[in-house]
Amino acid sequence: MPKVIFPGTFDPPTNGHLNILLRASRMFDEVAVVIATNASKSHLFSTEERFAMVKSLSQGLSNVTVSMWDGLIVDFARRVGAGIILRGVRGPADFEYELDLSLWNRSLNPRIETILLPTDHRYAILRSSAIKEVARLGGDVSEMVPPVVAEALRGKFGSPKTGSQSLP
Ligand code: ADP
Repeated sequence: MPKVIFPGTFDPPTNGHLNILLRASRMFDEVAVVIATNASKSHLFSTEERFAMVKSLSQGLSNVTVSMWDGLIVDFARRVGAGIILRGVRGPADFEYELDLSLWNRSLNPRIETILLPTDHRYAILRSSAIKEVARLGGDVSEMVPPVVAEALRGKFGSPKTGSQSLP
């Protein structure tokens, strides 16, 4: 099976990202996670912090590597000899965005294919931006992110003021 890259901002990584990563590590021989540095976006976590979190999540996955990159994703793919870009999709809005992105990447390098992997239904509402906002406002996001990320969010915003409520 070919080598795939899984690019993203991962600010911070969530259980949704982790699910895609675990599934990718079972589907492909090699998975190269690439953390987009993207200086034009403002991030809560530095590139190094995001790298350390993703690295810790990939511990034990022997076919996963983690890198940082501030250029075009197709250039990273070419550099590491990967022919496939993998992206996760939560719903129609993601699909529209990802389709556009894949067409751009294809126009930049038609030899690199994009594969879209639908999320697991448990993670369909998880997005890094919402998780940061909830954590900033004192909400408990510990069931939405891996423990290492929950810890890092506590480091930024302090402990949650509200515990998660169990519903009927
Ligand atoms: P970007 O800013 O490049 O979209 P993200 O870190 O937000 O970076 O996302 C990286 C990839 O992970 C994207 O393909 C995104 O759709 C996917 N992703 C994000 N959250 C989830 C989730 N909850 N379930 C599945 N895929 C997800």
